[in-house]
Amino acid sequence: MNSERADLVIVGAGAAGTHVLAALAQRKRLDLRSIAVVEAGDDPGPGLAYGDGAHPLHTFGRVPTRRRERGDELRVQLARSLHTLRERGIAVALHERCPARALHRDGDGDGDGWVLDTRRAPIAAGACVLAVGHWHVHALAHLRRAVDWRWDIRRLAAITDDEDALVLGASQSAIDLAIALAHRGSYRGTITLASRTGLLPRVWGYVGDASMPRHLDRLRSAAATNVRLEDILTAVRADLDDAGGSWSDFHTPGDGLAVLRADVAAARASKAARREIPWQAVLFPTVPAVFDLFPRLPAEDRLAIAPHTYAALRHLEAIHIANAQRILDLADAGRLRCVALGPAPPAPHEDAHHVHLGADLRAHRILDARGHDPHIAHASDAPFLHQLLADGHVVPARIPYATRPDDNHHLDTGGIWLDPTTFTTLGGSGVPTPNLHALGPLAIGQLPVYLGLWALRRQAAAIARAFRT
Ligand SMILES: Cc1cc2nc3c(=O)[nH]c(=O)nc-3n(C[C@H](O)[C@H](O)[C@H](O)COP(=O)(O)OP(=O)(O)OC[C@H]3O[C@@H](n4cnc5c(N)ncnc54)[C@H](O)[C@@H]3O)c2cc1C
Repeated sequence: MNSERADLVIVGAGAAGTHVLAALAQRKRLDLRSIAVVEAGDDPGPGLAYGDGAHPLHTFGRVPTRRRERGDELRVQLARSLHTLRERGIAVALHERCPARALHRDGDGDGDGWVLDTRRAPIAAGACVLAVGHWHVHALAHLRRAVDWRWDIRRLAAITDDEDALVLGASQSAIDLAIALAHRGSYRGTITLASRTGLLPRVWGYVGDASMPRHLDRLRSAAATNVRLEDILTAVRADLDDAGGSWSDFHTPGDGLAVLRADVAAARASKAARREIPWQAVLFPTVPAVFDLFPRLPAEDRLAIAPHTYAALRHLEAIHIANAQRILDLADAGRLRCVALGPAPPAPHEDAHHVHLGADLRAHRILDARGHDPHIAHASDAPFLHQLLADGHVVPARIPYATRPDDNHHLDTGGIWLDPTTFTTLGGSGVPTPNLHALGPLAIGQLPVYLGLWALRRQAAAIARAFRT
């Protein structure tokens, strides 16, 4: 089979691939004459989060924009970027329904370029950007009554109208799931959101000017590479103080729905007064700080953060007030409840009719909304990524220990190992792999939380810089 040639091949045309094309289109001078883009699906642009797998009511995080609307914008952004690049004489081929199968070094395996095997002809390219997005770990695969929904609400069709649903997790995804299911006009079942604390995401109030709080900003701009978690927490505490809040604003023990009700009231009051809730004033503008500071933390600090990830995510992924109200309306109608399982939740099991969680909880169906497993090795649906790992082209992210600087010990934090400033992948010895870049969820090892579209823009811009003349 004749191979196609391109200077650059981009694997995946979801939000990440689209952002890379947009960042390339924005650069005035590019050292590229041809780009090939391969996309497994038939709807390039939106990817998983912003396409038809989202429900029309799902909002884009804290703002009222619907995720599907963002998908429409991504389709337009993709088309515009292709047009701009082509106008500038760069040949861009977009291959849809074309999953990448394997990546090899060109030549006899020791060249600097790549050959990408696809369903069509192989593509030989000088450089490759991995933008393949999310991988899926089906942690409930042993249960027949589990619905493997993969963040795609179309898969909820497997739940019949009179089946009760038990959702593991209470994060934004769990809220989205509940809304999508309950708003299917004919659905009559009840929904239980079960998590360790029973707490739901916080609710956004008024959003004012998004300037970075000063203590975090100072820490971020400091040249020090050896930032410690304690430094970040001290800066957040000081910034909270400036904003009129206190550390206890982050701790809201209690019944999940009662806390949500209080949060909705606080968000309404904040909007009416046009005054930000203090924790929100500190967290809202801090994505750049997370981006810059977290990759510098040693393994000890990453381990210290891990037990608090959900508590942090409740705030970082706070929801829009309209969605919070939808959840309260469902609870008031007796169609939804929230259950705290405690620090050591029981494992679900099933019989012929129900799935059970502990002695008290049962439902016809169970769904997993406990968040992304960062370890690609656990994925059930990522043969391409498995091949990259097996052939040693990429390795899981490795975070060194501060207390053991001289030995080879590191923490495997998942995703793939990247230089968090250039988004070039790193090989096992920490040396950049020539001409191989990656972004999006693949960067989760460096950034312990997945940072969304803002991060994609920054990552794509860093990658595009590698192709300037
Ligand atoms: C349910 C959900 C809701 C989210 N909500 C928000 C939000 O409100 N705000 C926010 O900022 N962020 C949000 N995010 C996070 C973030 O914005 C997305 O994760 C982001 O869109 C990731 O884009 P991506 O292109 O890297 O991945 P994906 O969207 O997964 O796209 C990857 C693309 O690559 C293709 N592909 C995969 N494998 C191959 C292959 N082997 N060959 C060829 N093509 C391949 C896929 O078909 C897909 O089109 C959300 C994420 C999820 C999952």
